[in-house]
Amino acid sequence: MNRMSPIRYITIHHDGMDAFFATDRALVAAHLEGIRRLHRRKGWGDIGYHFAVDPAGRVWEARPLGWQGAHVKDHNPGNIGIVVLGNFDVQTPSASQLEGVRRHVMTLMRAYNVPRARVHTHRDWGAQTACPGGTLQSSLQRLQVTG
Ligand SMILES: [Zn+2]
Repeated sequence: MNRMSPIRYITIHHDGMDAFFATDRALVAAHLEGIRRLHRRKGWGDIGYHFAVDPAGRVWEARPLGWQGAHVKDHNPGNIGIVVLGNFDVQTPSASQLEGVRRHVMTLMRAYNVPRARVHTHRDWGAQTACPGGTLQSSLQRLQVTG
């Protein structure tokens, strides 16, 4: 893995697998480990995202921030990746999950001096992807989490 370069962006994703509603810590840990295994199978050094937000709104550390992530093709340097667990083409994010995302993004913006204009969703990068799903995309816009 490459060392993280100075942080300039924050990008929000969903995992896009089956709908996921679990709030039990062990179930969330197993789900995250499943994503990590998928990413390792692609030959990556670790899970591609830096943080995950579970359906209860808890924030989990994933790939340590000292390492560049693997989550937006050609735009990974200096880009913090947050995955919101679930598939927001088939489910709606809960209020607590949205609040967890909003609060963590605010914390990261402050800590790394990232302006709102550089907080994006995956599809905001112009990528050919439905990520982070329709319901999460519109919720993030409505709550003005993304710039
Ligand atoms: Zn994505």
